[in-house]
Amino acid sequence: MIKVADRREMEDYLYIQCPNCDDLTEHDVLKGRMGKDNITGTFRCTECGRVFSDTVRIPEVLKIKVLFSDGDVTETTETELESNEVLVVGEEFYLDDGRWVCITHIETKDGKKGKKFEADEIKALWVKQFDVLSVKVSVNDGHKTYSVRTEAEPDDEFVIGTILAFDDFDALIHAIKTKDRILKRGSAEARDITRIYGKIRKKRYEVLDLEEDDDQDGFDFDQE
Ligand SMILES: [Zn+2]
Repeated sequence: MIKVADRREMEDYLYIQCPNCDDLTEHDVLKGRMGKDNITGTFRCTECGRVFSDTVRIPEVLKIKVLFSDGDVTETTETELESNEVLVVGEEFYLDDGRWVCITHIETKDGKKGKKFEADEIKALWVKQFDVLSVKVSVNDGHKTYSVRTEAEPDDEFVIGTILAFDDFDALIHAIKTKDRILKRGSAEARDITRIYGKIRKKRYEVLDLEEDDDQDGFDFDQE
């Protein structure tokens, strides 16, 4: 995160407007130079892959009220967010104190209802403890890559070089993308993983008609 001026350092990703997606998306900062209140650099959209150079304003850091609910008890705390960070109901993130939570409701300053807001529109976040994660897995069969998901607890460990078993095929894990880098060996805990990359090792059925879509929960197989 980019913090206030005296602690400011170059970030390796930013939420900025993508000219291709026409939306605020996460961008890798390929190279950049810090200005007083901006970064001039080259950025790559992690959604569509578009690379472009621009000067972008550095977002402000806001303190947002958080209502943490754990069964019967609701506790009030706060967390720091960048003003242009996008928060979505149903998504997970870390509070500043390290707790891993899921957003259940977003209260906005102007009373607007919805599921997706930038931090500077938010009055309070309602969250609950997150204990089961749905980890994205890209499985390559040599021709195409399919997006599937696997459920995991936050501290489940995924190891490169091992097999991840699905109902209808196995996938050999060859890379893991975490929030800050891509691992080619070693392991990572589910809570840190943004995507696992695997190669199909064995499948009993022809894989047909899979959507190449991140949001697919399941996937269909035509049997023989
Ligand atoms: Zn894009």
